[in-house]
Amino acid sequence: MARPILLAVDDDASVLEAVVQDLRREYGATYRVMRASSGQAALEMLDQLKTRQEPVALLLSDQRMPGMTGVEFLERSREPYPEARRVLLTAYADTEAAIRAINTARIHYYLSKPWDPPEEKLYPVLADQLEDWQAGYQPPFEGLRVIGHRWSLQDHKVRSFLSRNHVPYRWLDIAASEDALKLLEERQLRPDQLPVVLFADGTSLVQPEPDELAARVGLSTQAAQDFYDMVVVGAGPAGLAAAVYGASEGLRTLVIEPEAPGGQAGSTSRIENYLGFPSGITGADLGRRAHIQAARFGAEFLTQRATGLRIDGQYRMVQLADGREVSSHVVLLAPGVQYRKLDIPGAGRLTGRGIYYGAALVEAVSCKDEEVFIVGGANSAGQAALHFAKFACKVTMLVRGDGLSATMSKYLIDEIERTSNIVLTPKTQVIAAEGQERLEALQLRGPQGEYRVPATSLFVFIGAAPGTGWLPPAILRDEKGFLLAGPDLRTEGRLPEQWREPREPFLLESSVPGVFVAGDVRHGSVKRVASAVGEGSIAVQFAHQYLAGF
Ligand SMILES: Cc1cc2nc3c(=O)[nH]c(=O)nc-3n(C[C@H](O)[C@H](O)[C@H](O)COP(=O)(O)OP(=O)(O)OC[C@H]3O[C@@H](n4cnc5c(N)ncnc54)[C@H](O)[C@@H]3O)c2cc1C
Repeated sequence: MARPILLAVDDDASVLEAVVQDLRREYGATYRVMRASSGQAALEMLDQLKTRQEPVALLLSDQRMPGMTGVEFLERSREPYPEARRVLLTAYADTEAAIRAINTARIHYYLSKPWDPPEEKLYPVLADQLEDWQAGYQPPFEGLRVIGHRWSLQDHKVRSFLSRNHVPYRWLDIAASEDALKLLEERQLRPDQLPVVLFADGTSLVQPEPDELAARVGLSTQAAQDFYDMVVVGAGPAGLAAAVYGASEGLRTLVIEPEAPGGQAGSTSRIENYLGFPSGITGADLGRRAHIQAARFGAEFLTQRATGLRIDGQYRMVQLADGREVSSHVVLLAPGVQYRKLDIPGAGRLTGRGIYYGAALVEAVSCKDEEVFIVGGANSAGQAALHFAKFACKVTMLVRGDGLSATMSKYLIDEIERTSNIVLTPKTQVIAAEGQERLEALQLRGPQGEYRVPATSLFVFIGAAPGTGWLPPAILRDEKGFLLAGPDLRTEGRLPEQWREPREPFLLESSVPGVFVAGDVRHGSVKRVASAVGEGSIAVQFAHQYLAGF
């Protein structure tokens, strides 16, 4: 397979030579380093590379060049290579332009010249960028294949599971690929057994459940130890932060998560307001990085769902979907919230067959050159619309209110306005979904009355509710199911009767001592990545204090 390309662009021959040398020294073994002396020449080169289907990982361009500036070049490079990482080299005086370009040209980073020593100022930045590119890159395929129907819920679940766990695969739609039929025949499988997952060693899984698939692709489903200091339920930002701090501070930490680490953030296309990532970070990247970080400190991860919690004296036992239990002194509940479902005729039947919840990333490519509908007017819907606009020919946002200003952050509204293929349809509700095998049309109610539009894909972002029904009644919650903790446990100034400890509950402690709560699932929490991360980290401090009492 051809090595992915790093392309350096600068009109100053000596600077270009220096960049190329530095790149070759560090990345020459894994990447091919190419050069161009102007933006125009670089664009022509990219067109040729595209025709030859060669992978381009990174574009590193100087800003000040005659004819075409670095920002212009990087912006135009998104057409042939939208996934390549775009880094701008600037002089100190161009910093303002570089910051503006984060929005307009979607550059991923800017570096100030000179970059000496490269070990400090160049390589760490580029290594980070290349790691992100690698995570999303699907090389010409040699491994795992999924054959299914685009309009099947089970197929969608298999693909989501693999994507979210960063397992590279190639998807073959039985309706569109002759190879798919051939492969099925070769493996003596039938189209009525779809979805199937084919492995490179010749084996296959028919209609696999997530745990079966998890075990086959090397994800852990059984705890390695009998006992842990802390079991964390949920690997969203809250659970991952707790895992990083807990494990790094010496707690034997187990994280239980049925999906890929990252939580809701993992399904969002780009988080732009998380501190320290000026050009945004995808939720999946954040989840992947935090997962690696926690694992590096020794946290263990299980691909499992928690289905119950049992209290036995000082032991807290978390029950798992496969019937096993894991035991610990401390449990941190961070299961977040789940997407609220559309309550309209047809929605249940067509879920996964054209109607999706928070599935923006995995389905986006399937919607190439189609029209996509999005329901919702909050930030999550805005992020999804921008993400789909890169693939779909038109994105229609169906919003109940007059507009977006009351519900969405300004930076997203501005970007939506700048994106020509996103159309905002205010004061409009979906009242029914139609279709036999898959979504075919939507019934809408707007200012002009009720009407029908043909539709193949509808993505729903209408808020979320906590999934806490599996917890015992001893864990108190509010009327909506959010968990009560710390001062919120008091009603009319009094702690609940079941609280028998001689001390006050810690700030994030639930009604059961030693069981803590963090993130979106907590009553009154701020629904933000940073808040969830903050709470997960703080909870670990209280866990230490609780454990100190043993
Ligand atoms: C589409 C969208 C866009 C968003 N954009 C932004 C943004 O730009 N900036 C921002 O700050 N915030 C954003 N948010 C909000 C942010 O994602 C959440 O506030 C944050 O993810 C909450 O983290 P958490 O760890 O509490 O829960 P979650 O992220 O919900 O993670 C909970 C995890 O627990 C797992 N889980 C659930 N039940 C169980 C169980 N029984 N057993 C084991 N595991 C379980 C889930 O699979 C999940 O992975 C967005 C949210 C959405 C939905």
